[in-house]
Amino acid sequence: MINIPQRILLGPGPSDVPPRVLEALGRPTIGHLDPVFLQLMDDIRTKLKAVFSTQNEMTLAMSGTGSAGMETLFANLVEPGDKVLVAVNGVFGGRMADVAGRYGAQVETIEAPWGQSFKQADIIEAVERIKPRLVAVVHAETSTGVLQDVDRLGAAIHEQGALFLLDCVTSLGGVPVEIDAWGVDAAYSGTQKCLSCPPGLSPVTFSPRAVERLTQRQQKVQSWYLDLTMLRQYWGEERAYHHTAPINMLYGLQEALSIVLEEGLEARYQRHRAMHELLRDELKTLGIGYASQEGHHLPMLNAVTIPEGVDDLTTRRRLLDEYGIEIGGGLGAFKGKVWRIGLMGHASSRRNVTLLVAALREILG
Ligand SMILES: *Cc1c(COP(=O)(O)O)cnc(C)c1O
Repeated sequence: MINIPQRILLGPGPSDVPPRVLEALGRPTIGHLDPVFLQLMDDIRTKLKAVFSTQNEMTLAMSGTGSAGMETLFANLVEPGDKVLVAVNGVFGGRMADVAGRYGAQVETIEAPWGQSFKQADIIEAVERIKPRLVAVVHAETSTGVLQDVDRLGAAIHEQGALFLLDCVTSLGGVPVEIDAWGVDAAYSGTQKCLSCPPGLSPVTFSPRAVERLTQRQQKVQSWYLDLTMLRQYWGEERAYHHTAPINMLYGLQEALSIVLEEGLEARYQRHRAMHELLRDELKTLGIGYASQEGHHLPMLNAVTIPEGVDDLTTRRRLLDEYGIEIGGGLGAFKGKVWRIGLMGHASSRRNVTLLVAALREILG
């Protein structure tokens, strides 16, 4: 028997899960075609639409983590040979380019340095020059702590007849995500970041325009498991068996979404902003600043520069062993140079900011 400790999860995800969600996971398992369960699925769709700010009927939770959502978009919307433009300024943009290529896309990228966001005009210029069928952007780049402005992209992408794909894994539930207002055609998220649910499901949403692209495919979707032309029959009227839904995980997601909507989206965004500002001001007193571009800091993922002379691994290990606090290390170009401090969903609290800063103050001396 391995004793699982109680941690405070202030890394890039998973984030702390509130007791209500953990309790929901323990409810009795029932059949995935049980009428009560189907009612729960409908409720999840309604709540996901609210959180995504969309009217899209094709809004559902895919089985698998955020990366399964990423694959769902490319598997269903790429046909071999399609030109796909991906904006890459960190790990997750790079992953999208990789995944799109595996589904046969002819991938083109535009790049920005780590820690920088793209000017929307630069993405639009690339769309007009390259004329892709799909354009994929990361809203909240968890590897660099950068928030990408996307409100002007939809119209420009549609003008070229392309679809707009957005990674909302870290942003959903923490900063405004306006799928319809921004003209996003397909988006995916994950449960273990600002929704404060354990990992295991990936909410996705497809606009009518994306559904039309899906319906007009010449070839079958390459992935059987992620094929929305079949899965929509389970989430839709027919309720046809495709694969067994992860019943208890969906109880957890339903509870987590209820908590998000009870708090209210605006209040939740405001809380994330306020706790980010509190952390930023407190870290400043320790001489710790940000590695991401000023004005584009993610409130739920603070990418901060490790002070000169401080050992990355030792410090993080002491935070974990002595204080039970997990923060994230840097990835790629930021490895050993940056800490990633998550204040996601339930974990974005004054108590956690105060605890972390006090612990860092003791360790750093
Ligand atoms: C975490 C994350 C993913 C991948 O999600 P997994 O749940 O780890 O599969 C994708 N994109 C972004 C921006 C993320 O933060």
